Amino acid sequence: MAYRRLSSLLSGSFSASSNSAAYLLSLGRNSNFGGGISRFSTAASLEAPITPSVQINHTQLLINGQFVDSASGKTFPTLDPRTGDVIAHVSEGDAEDVNRAVAAARKAFDGGPWPKMTAYERSRIIYRSADLIEKHNDEIAALETWDNGKPYEQAAKIEVPMLTRLLRYYAGWADKIHGLTVPADGPYHVQTLHEPIGVAGQIIPWNFPLLMYAWKIGPALACSNTVVMKTAEQTPLSALYVSNLLHEAGLPPGVLNVVSGYGPTAGAAVASHMDVDKVAFTGSTATGKIISELASKSNLKPVTFELGGKSPFIVCEDADVDQAVELAHFALFFNQGQCCCAGSRTFVHERVYDEFVEKAKARAMKRVVGDPFKTGVEQGPQIDSTQFEKILNYIRSGIESGATLETGGERVGTKGFYIQPTVFSNVQDGMKIATEEIFGPVQSILKFKNLDEVIKRANTSPYGLAAGVFTKDIGTANNLMRALRVGTVWINCFDTFDAAIPFGGYKMSGHGREKGIYSLNNYLQVKAVVSPVDNAAWL
Ligand code: ADP
Repeated sequence: MAYRRLSSLLSGSFSASSNSAAYLLSLGRNSNFGGGISRFSTAASLEAPITPSVQINHTQLLINGQFVDSASGKTFPTLDPRTGDVIAHVSEGDAEDVNRAVAAARKAFDGGPWPKMTAYERSRIIYRSADLIEKHNDEIAALETWDNGKPYEQAAKIEVPMLTRLLRYYAGWADKIHGLTVPADGPYHVQTLHEPIGVAGQIIPWNFPLLMYAWKIGPALACSNTVVMKTAEQTPLSALYVSNLLHEAGLPPGVLNVVSGYGPTAGAAVASHMDVDKVAFTGSTATGKIISELASKSNLKPVTFELGGKSPFIVCEDADVDQAVELAHFALFFNQGQCCCAGSRTFVHERVYDEFVEKAKARAMKRVVGDPFKTGVEQGPQIDSTQFEKILNYIRSGIESGATLETGGERVGTKGFYIQPTVFSNVQDGMKIATEEIFGPVQSILKFKNLDEVIKRANTSPYGLAAGVFTKDIGTANNLMRALRVGTVWINCFDTFDAAIPFGGYKMSGHGREKGIYSLNNYLQVKAVVSPVDNAAWL
């Protein structure tokens, strides 16, 4: 069944709205940019980037419903990953601005209308926000592509619609959050109240700026908390634009505050603030450890973490190799390889290994790299020079440690941060490219002989975010789904990110779950209320 579903996904018969991952797959397969030759754009075509058709209206901090300069008056540049040129100068928030934002959020929580209004009214504001975002879908997508470098087609047809969908999902929850009555051993009436935690500090990364924003603000607002959001310094623009729309939709001042700025200054101030009641973070495991320490050393605030990954993608011996290659390619290369759950250890059974490697190489060579505003482009630039250099270093390390470079390995063009889709075969477990998070378009293919062995090797990683399993055999799928110590197992699919599907990690990939019903737990307190029942005859 699952296998048949995948077949139809791969043939592109699912629409974008019914399954976004399927749409991405169909972008890769059905557009007419195949043909077997290398599809890297020429340096010349990258020298003249397409001008985005969107205006940048908001570059200041958003505090208490107003766009304001930072207290220091400082700004920082946000760069176009296609060229490294400055797109805009953005107000640079630091501890002083976080203090202002937290004070506004505190006031809005303690005395403002937001937690006091009816759940239905809150729900309607979130629904209206989603409607406005939908209306501005294409401008928001253009802003996201400009600041982040991801293909515009994906931003406009998948990510911004998913942002809208996520907000509607959480709007639907807002008036369905309530406690329970609990039977007790005695003459008591016992009930639970599900109450908001208070001021939520949220720190997000640059790889999916808007989705991370929605995963965080959605449940926080549905549960009537107030928020101080610290966006990533690489991608501050889209959250400011969208947060303005939320205010247009009726969000009261102080409920959602957005502070742009750097991690060790603004981010650390959010994590360590005594008046922030919880912190949610998505980013690297190293930064997660810092935030955990700041949170516990201040007021022991609870934390939700979605951290790094080194996800196995396991191709079993019964696999249809062509389909497995396509899905493994998507699992790794999607979003320029900048996914915490990327299938970055491609384990392939020895029976199909050689054929798989040949075809994975051919598929990577056909991948269309170019200006992300151009139609048909599958891969834009990496986010910035730091990531770009880091990825090229990993590629050098792969070569030096003896893995076979099948294709790629170089930059594309002379400007910006484009990297060739790169495939390594003969990768061994101990190599850095097989253990560390590369966060780039580098596929590492490893060989395995049997299921017990691959389970052990897949679970050796300190990470446990996700895994992909590709098989026609239900027994194999059942066995693997239980044995893998990860937060998500995708069987014959990958990166399916429905609003209702919980996402999060085992081990050093984090704790807590985002999206779906479980995400509400991160933003609620449970209060037990107990009162005696006088007339015991009723018991
Ligand atoms: P990456 O290495 O991929 O940029 P990070 O985990 O460093 O990932 O960054 C993710 C988010 O965490 C960003 O918003 C960043 O500014 C923030 N951040 C980085 N360092 C710190 C820190 N010391 N304290 C709080 N937030 C931080």
